[in-house]
Amino acid sequence: MHIQTAAVQTLRDFEHGAVVPSVHMASTFELDPATDDGVYAYQRGSNPTRAQLETVLSALDGARHGFAFASGMAATAAALSVLEVGDEVILPASVYGGTYRFVDLVLPKRGATARFVDDLGALTDADFTPATRAVFIETPANPTLRITDLRALVELAHRHGALVIVDNTFMTPVLQKPLALGADIVVQSATKYLAGHSDLLAGAVTVDDDGLADALRLAQKAEGGVLSPADSFRLIQAVKTLPLRLERQQANALAIVDFLRGCEDVAQVHYPGSHSEEEARVHASQASGTGAVVSFELAPELDRIAFLQALRYPAYAVSLGGVESLICRPATMTHEAMTPQARANAGISDELLRLSLGIEHAADLVADLEQALAAAR
Ligand SMILES: *Cc1c(COP(=O)(O)O)cnc(C)c1O
Repeated sequence: MHIQTAAVQTLRDFEHGAVVPSVHMASTFELDPATDDGVYAYQRGSNPTRAQLETVLSALDGARHGFAFASGMAATAAALSVLEVGDEVILPASVYGGTYRFVDLVLPKRGATARFVDDLGALTDADFTPATRAVFIETPANPTLRITDLRALVELAHRHGALVIVDNTFMTPVLQKPLALGADIVVQSATKYLAGHSDLLAGAVTVDDDGLADALRLAQKAEGGVLSPADSFRLIQAVKTLPLRLERQQANALAIVDFLRGCEDVAQVHYPGSHSEEEARVHASQASGTGAVVSFELAPELDRIAFLQALRYPAYAVSLGGVESLICRPATMTHEAMTPQARANAGISDELLRLSLGIEHAADLVADLEQALAAAR
């Protein structure tokens, strides 16, 4: 089944012939007094509506198991709950700011540690120790959109008995399926493309391995950061248009890249594969599109603040993936927790701007950028 069909047709045959599922708000469920058993017992453990969403999430990824959480960070924390006392996880220094905060400030209290590296693509056998339990990766990286070879990283990590956890928020299963490339755990902030309308906080985890599925089920039940039935229903509905939205968003991103690259007022334009032919080749081998986030720097003589103030459509806000375009400044917003040196190493300059394209008409977005550049000159 194609993902466009899976997004809409995975769930079927609802009560009363309804074409969308009903929402089950119950926090508790009757059990059989003879056995104390039931399909559902208590909402945190599982419930019909979240279970339906989890079926959709696993179908999109072609995964055996899916799990819905109350936020992308709850999903990430649950994925990292596979670390035990004494374990280490390797991450890129430019990893999503919330993930950086979690592994920097919370993970050590649980007896595990994080090791940050500038470039996961440069990892070698010598970087792994017996304590290395996992490698956590985002490809494309945020906001530089640099690419890491997932198959090569999986091979290296597995040789050392380490798991590969992929944060696939930027690509979504529409464009990249890390489990099929050998990764062990996929997390997503469903707040972004999956929900797609900047109105819902949610997280998703998918795995194939039954043991990892048990660990995630335990994280849901024991830590309780699960998605509510109402929000599970909203995500079931939102995901139906994910492939359609992303198609339009990606087309807009390509139009914007075309425009920015031909523009004297713009010094640098980054998108997946833009860094080198090698990265373009690797990205094309593991993903089916470049997505809808681009980043760029204005030419030094332009006034960044005037540019941002003049923009009519992209809102100056963190987050991404919604139907409305957003623009932000990673150095002071999403990647503020990194040290200036780490930001410099990762290629995140103070002037870099990250643009998340929505579903507006490309011509209107280009015209808007054009007038804002004129205002900044
Ligand atoms: C937003 C985001 C997260 C965190 O998700 P929340 O839903 O905000 O908790 C994790 N990873 C990436 C890449 C993100 O963009």
